[in-house]
Amino acid sequence: MTRTVYLNGAYLPEDQAKVSIFDRGFLFADGVYEVTSVLGGKLLDFEGHAVRLQRSLSELEITNPISKDDLLEVHRELVRLNEIDDGLIYLQITRGAADRDFAYPPADTPCTIVLFTQAKPGLAENPMAQTGLKVISIEDQRWGRRDIKTVQLLYPSMGKMMAKAAGAHDAWMVEDGFVTEGTSNNAYIVKNGKIITRHLGHEILHGITRAAVLRFAREAQMEVEERAFTLDEAKDADEAFITSASMFVMPVVELDGAPIGTGKVGQVASRLREIYVDESRKAAI
Ligand code: PMP
Repeated sequence: MTRTVYLNGAYLPEDQAKVSIFDRGFLFADGVYEVTSVLGGKLLDFEGHAVRLQRSLSELEITNPISKDDLLEVHRELVRLNEIDDGLIYLQITRGAADRDFAYPPADTPCTIVLFTQAKPGLAENPMAQTGLKVISIEDQRWGRRDIKTVQLLYPSMGKMMAKAAGAHDAWMVEDGFVTEGTSNNAYIVKNGKIITRHLGHEILHGITRAAVLRFAREAQMEVEERAFTLDEAKDADEAFITSASMFVMPVVELDGAPIGTGKVGQVASRLREIYVDESRKAAI
């Protein structure tokens, strides 16, 4: 089956969806994105992703080209057309095509809006959740507004390759001795039963999964501390995990070649994963 994608108001076979070489997403990484998970044909936390999308656009002074209701409709139509049971929906909005100039083009320049699906059968049954991830630490060399979900993902991409070369699955980025986040996820440690994750700010992406998981943790009477933690603290933690829309809650069992805690998947991470998947399925639309 040929995948059907959405481009600027039209549903098209993927090989017919074309974007200008002058698109500012292509020339300047001048665009933002969201990734929403689909479980059982339903969208997880659509509201959270729509709100963050609006915030990213506002921070870049890009006028949102689509209403929340229409955006929901496009997501649902792509799930239907592509018969997605479990998978992801990628959304990207750029400032559109204009003759190359560092200054933004006039505000009425039409945005480019693209959505496509990725089928991921068994997304919630990822076997990695049983064994956990190995991560390495790398210096955080990204720009200073990581709270805006832009498409400039080259450094995170390099980080994944560094992890791969080191025989690990991912990298945690470190700035001034403190862990910021994973290349495409938020980072957490657990010490003496307390869940510690970096506070919100310009230094990290405000994960939609992070917000949900912290809410569930507090509802389950788990202790949560939102503060920066050092790489040394992480190495000395009882357990560790990451969160993202596509990985949900995923245990981390090794950091820079050394086991974290027992080196096995931790209880807190396992419990939070179970709660998150259950509650997200219930709330999916
Ligand atoms: N941090 C970064 C750098 C990310 O790229 C992502 C995923 N896009 C996250 C955190 C997790 O965010 P979310 O839970 O909204 O997927």
